[in-house]
Amino acid sequence: MIIAIDGPAGAGKSTVARRLAERLGAAFLDTGAMYRAVTLACFQRGIDPSDAQACAATARSLEIGFESDGTMTVDGAPTDPAIRSEDVNLRVSEVSAHAGVRETIVAQQRAVAERLGDVVAEGRDTTTVVFPQADLKVYLDASPAERARRRAAEVGRPDKVERIEAALRARDAHDSGRAHSPLRYDPQAALVLTDGLGVDAVVDRILALVEE
Ligand code: C5P
Repeated sequence: MIIAIDGPAGAGKSTVARRLAERLGAAFLDTGAMYRAVTLACFQRGIDPSDAQACAATARSLEIGFESDGTMTVDGAPTDPAIRSEDVNLRVSEVSAHAGVRETIVAQQRAVAERLGDVVAEGRDTTTVVFPQADLKVYLDASPAERARRRAAEVGRPDKVERIEAALRARDAHDSGRAHSPLRYDPQAALVLTDGLGVDAVVDRILALVEE
């Protein structure tokens, strides 16, 4: 069984997908973390995020592994927490827009799902491109103000909420405007608006859809 959860930055996809996977006893596949790992590797190798060829070669050179609990490894080592850094936030959208990067990473995502069986996959194009045949597709959304508030609380910087909202909007615009795998709402997906809802309330809604 594959459940795919799509939506913009800060809609709560990761937290919800992780909790849902736990409740279902399924594996959690964090597709954004894979693009973040490629971006970090580009930085470490001095590769310019605008260099499509070099970014694609970097993606091909990495060995990204997933445990069934969603733990990701890169070249056999635990994932570097720097994949969540501000520098990566700012450039990941550019790196992940290259067709050659996506080709490699999407193939790996499908292989991981094949190997793990029951999977909750989370990320920008999981409903539209990676797993269009998913058993359940969900599009999680929330207002930009709510998404920024959550992100600011998560990183312990409620004073930075305006800057965070501007950055989220910029990343959404870039993710939506790109040629390959743009962020878009798949009409087959169940739309779940999460403003004012806690994680468990959102997970309960999705579980109700699973049981339908
Ligand atoms: O979900 P997360 O914020 O970690 O994703 C980081 C970035 O990775 C997104 O802004 C997007 O540019 C890219 N991404 C993607 N396709 C996915 C998941 C993430 O292009 N399936």
